Amino acid sequence: MPIEVYPWHQARWRELVQRREGLPHALLFRGREGIGKLDFVRKLAQSLACTSPVENAACDECQSCRWFAADAHPDYRELLPEVMRPSGAEEAAAQGRSKPREEIVVNEVRGLESFVNLTAHQTGAKTIVLYPAETLNVNAANALLKSLEEPPPHTRFMLVSHRPSYLPATIISRCQQIVLPTPPVEMAEQWLREQGVTEPALSLAQTGNAPLAALALDDGAFWQQRKALFGGLAAPTVDAFALAEHVREFPIPRLLGWLQRWSYDLLSAKSVGLVRYNPDYAKTLGQVASRLRAVDIARFHRTLVRQQRSVHHPLNPRLYIEQLLFSYTALLRGEDLTASYAR
Ligand SMILES: [Zn+2]
Repeated sequence: MPIEVYPWHQARWRELVQRREGLPHALLFRGREGIGKLDFVRKLAQSLACTSPVENAACDECQSCRWFAADAHPDYRELLPEVMRPSGAEEAAAQGRSKPREEIVVNEVRGLESFVNLTAHQTGAKTIVLYPAETLNVNAANALLKSLEEPPPHTRFMLVSHRPSYLPATIISRCQQIVLPTPPVEMAEQWLREQGVTEPALSLAQTGNAPLAALALDDGAFWQQRKALFGGLAAPTVDAFALAEHVREFPIPRLLGWLQRWSYDLLSAKSVGLVRYNPDYAKTLGQVASRLRAVDIARFHRTLVRQQRSVHHPLNPRLYIEQLLFSYTALLRGEDLTASYAR
């Protein structure tokens, strides 16, 4: 299937492809996670490599475009952290590691050298995409910096970042920055409806208006699990143990995300009478918030934010969930459990 340029990126697209001959050797694409930045960059790389472009965009028919469609273009490389690569778990196991790496490491950047040094196959230009660029660790970023400072001939680097502030300033200063916008709500809702999403507004509220992230929620389990958790949180009396048992199979990062947005909405309902992430629970959130003190909700929310650090590797997942829910029941009872919270 040809890659799509999303409606909210069309204006930026036209600007860039018109400059196709004059684009610099290092570009940094920035924008919110889940809006389709990687698809944009793939389409751009394909269009720049296309041998018979139509209105400056990929023809989808030439040999180069067919290679792109088959993920096999000899002059195009994507570097993602191991955890995001389809073969990541196997690669880690082959090296005796129990989990795939979440960072791009220096050897992976150095591994690009042989690719760069081979003669370009077709048009003389090579493209390297790094995604998400903020996952480059320090040594990997330094190795990349050398290439950006002394660019190999006929090679273009496209860095894609959700959080460019995490990138070294030295890298950023070598790149021309291109902001990819988040769509207006109506456009995002329309697009999601076209993809068959039944509650686009609610999905978008969950994801800060990022349409591809909203589309990814539409896997059935997400909404079922959310309903189970929120049903438990909204119950007149919350039994932390029983609720932990009920949700123990749910992905922990997802659970923590829901709790964070639940507490954010509680605080927001308490202070300004509005909720942001969970409009379908606005009434319930308002009722729960009315029984609580703002200072306690804020403290609970900070507790949850601190848990973000260990969310991908809790030592004991079951205990982690129980503690999260215990701090919630403590909040409902007006107690301060911060001091006893295991760190
Ligand atoms: Zn083509």
